Amino acid sequence: MENSYETMEQLEVLQKSLKADCGNCAALCCVGLSFMASADFAFDKAAGMPCPNLQSDFRCGIHEDLRRSGFKGCTVFDCYGSGQKVVQVTFQEKDWRSDADTAKEMFAVFPIMTQLHEMMWYLADAMKQEAAPLLQKELADLLSKTEQLTSLEPEKLKILDVPAHRAQVNELLVKVSEAVRSDAIKRHKGRKSKALNRRNADLMGADLKGADLKGVDFRGAYFIAANLRQTDMRTTDVIGADFRDADISGADLSTSLYLTQVQVNAAIGDCLTKLPSSIARPAYWAKKPRIF
Ligand code: SF4
Repeated sequence: MENSYETMEQLEVLQKSLKADCGNCAALCCVGLSFMASADFAFDKAAGMPCPNLQSDFRCGIHEDLRRSGFKGCTVFDCYGSGQKVVQVTFQEKDWRSDADTAKEMFAVFPIMTQLHEMMWYLADAMKQEAAPLLQKELADLLSKTEQLTSLEPEKLKILDVPAHRAQVNELLVKVSEAVRSDAIKRHKGRKSKALNRRNADLMGADLKGADLKGVDFRGAYFIAANLRQTDMRTTDVIGADFRDADISGADLSTSLYLTQVQVNAAIGDCLTKLPSSIARPAYWAKKPRIF
């Protein structure tokens, strides 16, 4: 299979495209998704119902005040660029407001496309790792295959076996993670292997300030409101970890594996937090070092 992403630059460009571009979308997330009243969203909203804050030009009427108005979740969410893909490519700029059938189709395809784009993000991240050269071909093939799936017609997308494809992707991501972390483990002899396996760990509110966490497998861990200030999280696997309100001020996540924009958006950070080049620093983070 042809590999169209051979260089680090090409992979960086790909990851940049796997981010929300609201100007080229039609507010699919503000309509298609359901929300429950919580700290993230001020009221209940059913799937398929336009948010009352949505304007006729598909822009958010309270965009500048989302956090102050109780819509923090809207500043955290990122569709991995699936919104613009569904609108521009899959439905070729059809307007979901034009007829109910189009709307139904678009909102059915949107979460499927989001999952495919998320998988592409992870595969691109895996391909950027130099520790797994023997897996590059397999990764490139799976990335191409996943990208091809994003071009399917709505009817085919709707019946796609996403869990089966995800399982295939996941198997490869785990192999890359092991290769990346085994390097870190060797450099830190003396650490017990148990300490390096914190999959699905419940670390809600934990105080890990300043900890050396390099090479730890934090797959699916719960860091909600944890103190991760000044931690060293290089080469940690954080796929699926929940960073809501985790404080990563001054922490080093510059080479954290499978870190996403959504995770970073959900965390609290400052100007000293180190992030991978593919992740943007949230505008609402502290511009000065936070004092502890
Ligand atoms: S508050 Fe704004 S960004 Fe959030 S769902 Fe409503 S229109 Fe969209």
